[in-house]
Amino acid sequence: MDWRPTIGLEIHAELSTRTKMFCDSRNDPRESKPNVNICPVCMAHPGTLPVINADAVGHVVRLGHAVGGTTADYTEFDRKNYFYPDIPKGYQISQYVYPLISGGTLSGVAITRVHLEEDTARSIHDGGDGTLIDFNRAGVPLMELVTEPVIHDAVTAGNFARELQLLLRYLGASEANMEEGQMRIEANISVSRDATFGTKVEVKNINSFRAVERAIEYEVKRQIAAYESGDVVMQETRGWDDAKGETFSQRKKESSHDYRYFPDPDLPKLTLSQHPQFEADVLRKSMPELPWERRARYTSLGLKAEDADMFVRDTRFGTFFDRSCSEDGGLALLSANYLASDVAGALQAGVASEEWLFDENNAKRFGTLMSLTKSKKVSSRGAKDILGKMFSDTREPHEIAQSEGLYQQSDEGALEEVARAVIDAQPVVVADYMAGKDAALQFLVGQGMKASKGAADPGVLREVLVRLLAR
Ligand code: ADP
Ligand code: MG
Repeated sequence: MDWRPTIGLEIHAELSTRTKMFCDSRNDPRESKPNVNICPVCMAHPGTLPVINADAVGHVVRLGHAVGGTTADYTEFDRKNYFYPDIPKGYQISQYVYPLISGGTLSGVAITRVHLEEDTARSIHDGGDGTLIDFNRAGVPLMELVTEPVIHDAVTAGNFARELQLLLRYLGASEANMEEGQMRIEANISVSRDATFGTKVEVKNINSFRAVERAIEYEVKRQIAAYESGDVVMQETRGWDDAKGETFSQRKKESSHDYRYFPDPDLPKLTLSQHPQFEADVLRKSMPELPWERRARYTSLGLKAEDADMFVRDTRFGTFFDRSCSEDGGLALLSANYLASDVAGALQAGVASEEWLFDENNAKRFGTLMSLTKSKKVSSRGAKDILGKMFSDTREPHEIAQSEGLYQQSDEGALEEVARAVIDAQPVVVADYMAGKDAALQFLVGQGMKASKGAADPGVLREVLVRLLAR
């Protein structure tokens, strides 16, 4: 048997709540002034007591519901004991035996559990003698999701993490920006050549989705090379160096008994069924459309997979798209094409602004333009010109078409006039065509398009010419 990689992910996300996990201090990831969002509780002053933040519990329970996990009825918080300056109490409040959520799947990957804990303070190694500590982050609600060791390649791991980020954002549970540390991924990686698992290595400091994939690919190669040269793979924690594209040894891994977990006596046990806001029915009603549901809706409208995915990931486009064809589903494909190419291109080039996309009225105008295009009242060339004007003015598409002469002429009577004028003006080319030179027809159509300043429907014009010049 060939070497087979096995991967399990542990992903942390800072939750979007007004206050911290166990106290009234503000949870503000944007606060840049150190140590302002702190209080005696999150600074671990003696005699203070924690209070559970119900909004944080709600975020995790809703996420559990979305992934089809089982919400614990009985749950409790435990103390995870370790000594480090970023953890003022000397322990972190976490969940050990009774996580909020067990099971569920996302992107085809089985989830082991999702639990709630508190974040640590931020250590700032300023390059001087010491380390500075900012406690604004200490006690911020942190969700931890653990997957089963069922992933066998880097891309599946990356895609799972991307989908989780989307889900967190759709639920409003977290902004989940990886660069800002709001979402942190650890990958457990092993390789083996038989049915048993190899020794796993945990890789930390992964700062992007691409880095998840690169770190896994690197580590799989490193472990295989180690085994093949007769070395052992040690169970350890390794860091990821993005610039070098390598993992490096950090420390030998602690095991859970080192943490002396025990139930936190300062916090009440939670029986979720006693709290109506966590009932399945209430949750179901509060659920937004989920990323995979939206993707399925778009693909069932016939959108290309890549367009559907773009609209799901970038809700600026998704919302604009939904608004543009809410009244006529028949416009979906055309809207998606123009949106993914022309509007996206204009945004990229700075011709259209983000505010333009957010404005509901622009989506409606865009929908009107699509229906003019679909009914061939304007040509695809004309539609692009009208759209270009719509980015900078507020006129309705038909006003622009009118004043710029961009209505497409498909009326045979009107086009017959155009065709006759071309025939009169081009006797030599007409003679060529009559003599059997088919290419001459294209030239005549081109002349007619020019004469009508692009307004003629080229298909109809061609038919009229063929009719008038019947050979
Ligand atoms: P620990 O007790 O060391 O924290 P866990 O059993 O809690 O280990 O698993 C932590 C993570 O490691 C999970 O995501 C799990 O899927 C993953 N994992 C467990 N064993 C392996 C393995 N042999 N190879 C890769 N990942 C693994
Ligand atoms: Mg563990």
